[in-house]
Amino acid sequence: MLYLEEIFMLPILAQSPVQLEAWFRERGLPAYRARQVRKWIFERRAAGFDEMTDLPLDLRGRLAEEFSIWSGRVAAHAKSADGAEKLLFEQADGNRVECVLLRDDRRHRTICLSSQIGCAMQCAFCATGIDGFVRNLSAEEIVEHALQLQRLLPDDERLSNVVVMGMGEPLLNLDGVLPALAAIASPEGLGIGVRRITISTVGLPKGIRQLAEMNCLYHLAVSLHAPNDELRERLVPANRGVGIGALLSAADYYFEKTGRRVTYEYVLLAEINDRPEHARQLAEILRGRPSLVNLIPYNPTPDLPFRTPASAVTAQFAEILAENGLTTAIRYRKGDRISAACGQLRRSHS
Ligand code: SAH
Repeated sequence: MLYLEEIFMLPILAQSPVQLEAWFRERGLPAYRARQVRKWIFERRAAGFDEMTDLPLDLRGRLAEEFSIWSGRVAAHAKSADGAEKLLFEQADGNRVECVLLRDDRRHRTICLSSQIGCAMQCAFCATGIDGFVRNLSAEEIVEHALQLQRLLPDDERLSNVVVMGMGEPLLNLDGVLPALAAIASPEGLGIGVRRITISTVGLPKGIRQLAEMNCLYHLAVSLHAPNDELRERLVPANRGVGIGALLSAADYYFEKTGRRVTYEYVLLAEINDRPEHARQLAEILRGRPSLVNLIPYNPTPDLPFRTPASAVTAQFAEILAENGLTTAIRYRKGDRISAACGQLRRSHS
């Protein structure tokens, strides 16, 4: 049975700085307390109000009666030898969603956040799509994931980068994603600069243009995965009725508006989109576009029939792109032992 207080507790992460200040003011308390509380949550990584030792004891009690900090719980925590850690969250309604912390040797501490529970895009090779779409994540749920990932770091390490590349399609949940990223970017939140925040999209021209108009300067990554419409429609059904032409011109518009070079992601699937002619075709369609191509060797998913190309095939693909003047990187897999690709950990726990 739920107690009334539990039902009426306000999620503190849903309060904007202005709203939280108003809560203090309305109770005749100084507004700077709101900043103190936010600092405890975002910077000092407090797990509960009882840890906020520079607040009067009775105020700590009162906050704990009225607000909750966490709405979900960590249902599973996996670690891999390369430093990647993955959390499987159970949200208040019982739905499960993943997020990941990635470490590299250049002291980057990158978190990969989900935007939705499940996904409606049904990309042929992606584990998230198999179980379909459930619902959007709220802004406070997304921020909560970021904070819990931050809590995995030792005190002297900070998060440096954020990628919205977990479960779901972020451009179909801008109402959740944009306020969450605003809190993550804000100096009063996690203070991670917009240039170190990436939104990865399946490639919806309308959403890309909308984001460009907002001019919020996040780095945009487009999941292209194929150099022609026929193949892209097989791998990425969202391409149907849209087409690569419309997608690339929306991406060009994003660059025009923001000055930010777009990244094209290309998952390499053995014998499907990894042939030299695919590389040449890709170079052809991206020629003259300021861009970066990120080649991602496929991370195998048990229920799906795709395979990872041999590393020589991947290297040759990259070489053809480079010969044609494209800036190319191969994103070597991190965390594959912990099912780090989109949707894999959730499936292994269902
Ligand atoms: N919906 C967004 C963000 C989520 S997926 C998008 O499509 O970009 C993040 C990236 O991981 C996408 O490029 C996606 O195609 C890729 N991906 C999904 N499953 C994968 C797998 N098993 N191996 C490698 N990359 C995968």
